[in-house]
Amino acid sequence: MIHAKETTDNQNTNADQSKAFIRNDQYNFIKDQTKILLTAQTSTNDAEVLNVLRHLAHEKVQNLFPALTEEQKKILHPLVQINELSEAEIFLEQLQPYRIPFKAVSDQHLKCLFPKAKKLKGPKLENINFKKTSYLAWTESSNLMYLVAEVKDQMIGVQGSFTRSHKQGICRVCNRHSEVGLFIAKMKNSGNDQFIKRGNYICQDAAVCNDNIKTLDSLAEFVGQFQNK
Ligand SMILES: [Zn+2]
Repeated sequence: MIHAKETTDNQNTNADQSKAFIRNDQYNFIKDQTKILLTAQTSTNDAEVLNVLRHLAHEKVQNLFPALTEEQKKILHPLVQINELSEAEIFLEQLQPYRIPFKAVSDQHLKCLFPKAKKLKGPKLENINFKKTSYLAWTESSNLMYLVAEVKDQMIGVQGSFTRSHKQGICRVCNRHSEVGLFIAKMKNSGNDQFIKRGNYICQDAAVCNDNIKTLDSLAEFVGQFQNK
Protein backbone atom coordinates (compact mmCIF):
# COMPACT_ATOMS: atom_id res chain seq x y z
CA MET A 1 0.00 0.00 0.00
CA ILE A 2 1.20 3.47 -0.81
CA HIS A 3 1.53 5.83 2.10
CA ALA A 4 2.26 9.29 0.89
CA LYS A 5 2.23 11.88 3.61
CA GLU A 6 -0.97 13.61 2.74
CA THR A 7 -1.25 16.84 4.54
CA THR A 8 -4.27 17.08 6.77
CA ASP A 9 -4.14 20.75 7.54
CA ASN A 10 -6.56 22.95 5.73
CA GLN A 11 -4.51 26.08 6.20
CA ASN A 12 -3.04 26.34 2.77
CA THR A 13 -0.42 28.96 2.55
CA ASN A 14 -0.59 31.46 -0.25
CA ALA A 15 2.69 30.17 -1.61
CA ASP A 16 1.16 26.70 -1.88
CA GLN A 17 -1.95 27.90 -3.61
CA SER A 18 -0.16 29.84 -6.28
CA LYS A 19 1.84 26.75 -7.25
CA ALA A 20 -1.02 24.29 -7.01
CA PHE A 21 -2.07 22.71 -10.28
CA ILE A 22 -3.25 19.19 -9.43
CA ARG A 23 -6.94 18.61 -8.68
CA ASN A 24 -8.01 15.83 -6.36
CA ASP A 25 -9.21 13.59 -9.21
CA GLN A 26 -5.96 14.14 -11.09
CA TYR A 27 -3.92 13.31 -8.01
CA ASN A 28 -5.92 10.10 -7.55
CA PHE A 29 -5.28 9.22 -11.18
CA ILE A 30 -1.54 9.76 -10.74
CA LYS A 31 -1.55 7.71 -7.54
CA ASP A 32 -3.34 4.93 -9.40
CA GLN A 33 -0.73 4.99 -12.16
CA THR A 34 2.04 4.55 -9.59
CA LYS A 35 0.14 1.55 -8.18
CA ILE A 36 -0.17 0.04 -11.65
CA LEU A 37 3.58 0.46 -12.17
CA LEU A 38 4.39 -1.17 -8.85
CA THR A 39 2.09 -4.08 -9.64
CA ALA A 40 3.74 -4.50 -13.05
CA GLN A 41 7.09 -4.55 -11.29
CA THR A 42 6.08 -7.62 -9.34
CA SER A 43 4.75 -9.48 -12.37
CA THR A 44 7.55 -9.00 -14.89
CA ASN A 45 11.31 -8.63 -14.91
CA ASP A 46 11.42 -7.46 -18.48
CA ALA A 47 13.19 -4.09 -18.21
CA GLU A 48 12.04 -3.03 -21.64
CA VAL A 49 8.39 -3.74 -20.88
CA LEU A 50 8.61 -1.87 -17.60
CA ASN A 51 10.23 1.07 -19.29
CA VAL A 52 7.42 1.22 -21.83
CA LEU A 53 4.83 1.03 -19.04
CA ARG A 54 6.48 3.85 -17.13
CA HIS A 55 6.51 6.09 -20.18
CA LEU A 56 2.93 5.18 -20.96
CA ALA A 57 1.87 6.10 -17.41
CA HIS A 58 3.78 9.35 -17.66
CA GLU A 59 2.11 10.17 -20.95
CA LYS A 60 -1.36 9.48 -19.55
CA VAL A 61 -0.62 11.74 -16.60
CA GLN A 62 0.67 14.53 -18.83
CA ASN A 63 -2.49 14.25 -20.90
CA LEU A 64 -4.56 15.10 -17.83
CA PHE A 65 -3.28 18.63 -18.04
CA PRO A 66 -4.00 20.73 -21.12
CA ALA A 67 -0.99 22.99 -20.61
CA LEU A 68 1.94 22.26 -18.37
CA THR A 69 4.74 24.69 -17.61
CA GLU A 70 8.32 23.44 -17.68
CA GLU A 71 8.36 23.48 -13.89
CA GLN A 72 5.19 21.42 -13.68
CA LYS A 73 6.61 18.92 -16.18
CA LYS A 74 9.65 18.55 -13.93
CA ILE A 75 7.39 17.88 -10.95
CA LEU A 76 5.59 15.05 -12.76
CA HIS A 77 8.66 13.62 -14.46
CA PRO A 78 9.89 11.31 -11.64
CA LEU A 79 7.00 8.99 -12.57
CA VAL A 80 9.13 7.58 -15.40
CA GLN A 81 11.74 6.46 -12.90
CA ILE A 82 9.57 4.66 -10.38
CA ASN A 83 10.93 1.19 -9.67
CA GLU A 84 9.90 0.57 -6.13
CA LEU A 85 7.47 1.52 -3.40
CA SER A 86 9.75 4.03 -1.68
CA GLU A 87 10.20 5.93 -4.94
CA ALA A 88 6.44 6.00 -5.49
CA GLU A 89 5.90 7.31 -1.97
CA ILE A 90 8.51 10.02 -2.33
CA PHE A 91 7.08 11.03 -5.71
CA LEU A 92 3.55 11.31 -4.31
CA GLU A 93 4.78 13.14 -1.22
CA GLN A 94 6.46 15.69 -3.43
CA LEU A 95 3.17 16.33 -5.21
CA GLN A 96 1.35 17.32 -2.02
CA PRO A 97 2.16 21.07 -2.11
CA TYR A 98 0.82 21.21 -5.66
CA ARG A 99 -2.64 19.88 -4.90
CA ILE A 100 -5.49 22.34 -5.45
CA PRO A 101 -7.86 22.51 -2.48
CA PHE A 102 -11.61 22.43 -3.10
CA LYS A 103 -13.08 25.94 -3.05
CA ALA A 104 -13.99 27.22 0.38
CA VAL A 105 -17.76 27.41 0.77
CA SER A 106 -19.11 30.09 3.07
CA ASP A 107 -22.46 29.97 4.91
CA GLN A 108 -23.65 32.66 2.54
CA HIS A 109 -22.65 30.55 -0.41
CA LEU A 110 -24.54 27.56 0.98
CA LYS A 111 -27.68 29.66 1.35
CA CYS A 112 -27.46 30.58 -2.32
CA LEU A 113 -26.91 26.97 -3.35
CA PHE A 114 -29.78 25.66 -1.23
CA PRO A 115 -32.29 28.52 -1.02
CA LYS A 116 -35.13 26.25 0.09
CA ALA A 117 -33.25 24.63 2.94
CA LYS A 118 -34.14 26.13 6.28
CA LYS A 119 -31.70 25.99 9.16
CA LEU A 120 -28.98 24.49 7.03
CA LYS A 121 -26.08 23.44 9.20
CA GLY A 122 -23.59 22.80 6.43
CA PRO A 123 -20.73 20.32 6.32
CA LYS A 124 -18.43 19.81 9.28
CA LEU A 125 -15.57 21.75 7.80
CA GLU A 126 -13.07 20.70 10.45
CA ASN A 127 -13.40 17.09 9.26
CA ILE A 128 -12.73 17.85 5.62
CA ASN A 129 -9.39 17.81 3.93
CA PHE A 130 -10.06 20.18 1.04
CA LYS A 131 -7.10 18.98 -0.96
CA LYS A 132 -8.65 15.52 -0.99
CA THR A 133 -12.03 16.79 -2.07
CA SER A 134 -13.78 16.87 -5.44
CA TYR A 135 -17.21 17.32 -3.93
CA LEU A 136 -18.71 17.97 -0.52
CA ALA A 137 -21.48 15.76 0.82
CA TRP A 138 -23.12 15.71 4.21
CA THR A 139 -26.36 14.60 5.76
CA GLU A 140 -28.68 16.51 8.05
CA SER A 141 -31.68 15.32 10.04
CA SER A 142 -30.99 11.64 9.45
CA ASN A 143 -31.43 11.21 5.71
CA LEU A 144 -31.32 14.59 4.00
CA MET A 145 -28.20 14.73 1.90
CA TYR A 146 -26.55 17.81 0.45
CA LEU A 147 -23.90 17.77 -2.22
CA VAL A 148 -21.75 20.59 -3.51
CA ALA A 149 -19.59 20.13 -6.58
CA GLU A 150 -17.77 22.44 -8.92
CA VAL A 151 -18.65 21.75 -12.53
CA LYS A 152 -17.14 23.83 -15.30
CA ASP A 153 -16.13 26.56 -12.85
CA GLN A 154 -19.61 26.70 -11.41
CA MET A 155 -20.62 25.59 -7.93
CA ILE A 156 -23.65 23.32 -8.01
CA GLY A 157 -25.72 22.24 -5.03
CA VAL A 158 -27.93 19.16 -5.06
CA GLN A 159 -30.17 18.07 -2.23
CA GLY A 160 -32.02 14.81 -1.83
CA SER A 161 -32.58 11.87 0.42
CA PHE A 162 -29.99 9.24 1.16
CA THR A 163 -30.72 5.71 2.28
CA ARG A 164 -27.90 3.47 3.33
CA SER A 165 -28.13 0.11 1.62
CA HIS A 166 -25.48 -1.68 3.71
CA LYS A 167 -24.51 -3.36 0.49
CA GLN A 168 -21.63 -3.21 -1.93
CA GLY A 169 -22.30 -1.74 -5.33
CA ILE A 170 -20.92 0.48 -8.05
CA CYS A 171 -20.90 4.14 -7.13
CA ARG A 172 -22.30 6.46 -9.80
CA VAL A 173 -19.80 9.18 -8.93
CA CYS A 174 -16.45 7.37 -8.61
CA ASN A 175 -17.42 4.21 -10.57
CA ARG A 176 -15.78 2.03 -7.96
CA HIS A 177 -17.13 -0.89 -6.02
CA SER A 178 -17.86 0.22 -2.50
CA GLU A 179 -20.43 0.42 0.26
CA VAL A 180 -23.22 2.40 -1.36
CA GLY A 181 -26.52 4.03 -0.54
CA LEU A 182 -29.36 5.33 -2.66
CA PHE A 183 -29.46 9.06 -3.30
CA ILE A 184 -32.81 10.33 -4.60
CA ALA A 185 -33.63 13.89 -5.59
CA LYS A 186 -36.74 15.57 -6.86
CA MET A 187 -36.54 17.74 -9.91
CA LYS A 188 -38.86 19.56 -12.27
CA ASN A 189 -39.77 17.66 -15.37
CA SER A 190 -38.80 19.60 -18.45
CA GLY A 191 -41.82 20.83 -20.37
CA ASN A 192 -44.31 20.79 -17.51
CA ASP A 193 -44.44 21.71 -13.85
CA GLN A 194 -44.52 18.19 -12.53
CA PHE A 195 -41.81 16.84 -10.31
CA ILE A 196 -40.01 13.61 -11.04
CA LYS A 197 -37.60 11.69 -8.88
CA ARG A 198 -34.22 10.49 -9.93
CA GLY A 199 -31.79 8.41 -8.00
CA ASN A 200 -28.46 6.65 -8.10
CA TYR A 201 -26.34 4.56 -5.82
CA ILE A 202 -23.34 6.47 -4.55
CA CYS A 203 -20.66 5.82 -1.93
CA GLN A 204 -21.91 6.00 1.61
CA ASP A 205 -18.72 7.64 2.73
CA ALA A 206 -17.92 10.79 0.75
CA ALA A 207 -14.30 10.71 1.93
CA VAL A 208 -13.88 7.23 0.40
CA CYS A 209 -15.57 8.42 -2.78
CA ASN A 210 -13.33 11.48 -3.00
CA ASP A 211 -10.34 9.17 -2.64
CA ASN A 212 -11.59 7.04 -5.52
CA ILE A 213 -12.51 9.73 -8.03
CA LYS A 214 -10.09 9.68 -10.94
CA THR A 215 -12.08 11.81 -13.37
CA LEU A 216 -14.73 14.48 -12.89
CA ASP A 217 -16.87 13.24 -15.80
CA SER A 218 -19.18 10.99 -13.78
CA LEU A 219 -19.48 13.56 -11.00
CA ALA A 220 -20.51 16.21 -13.54
CA GLU A 221 -23.06 13.83 -15.07
CA PHE A 222 -24.37 12.86 -11.66
CA VAL A 223 -25.02 16.41 -10.45
CA GLY A 224 -26.02 17.53 -13.95
CA GLN A 225 -28.98 15.15 -14.09
CA PHE A 226 -30.58 17.02 -11.18
CA GLN A 227 -30.29 20.42 -12.76
CA ASN A 228 -33.51 21.82 -14.14
CA LYS A 229 -33.15 22.21 -17.83
ZN1 LIG B 1 -18.04 6.83 -4.93
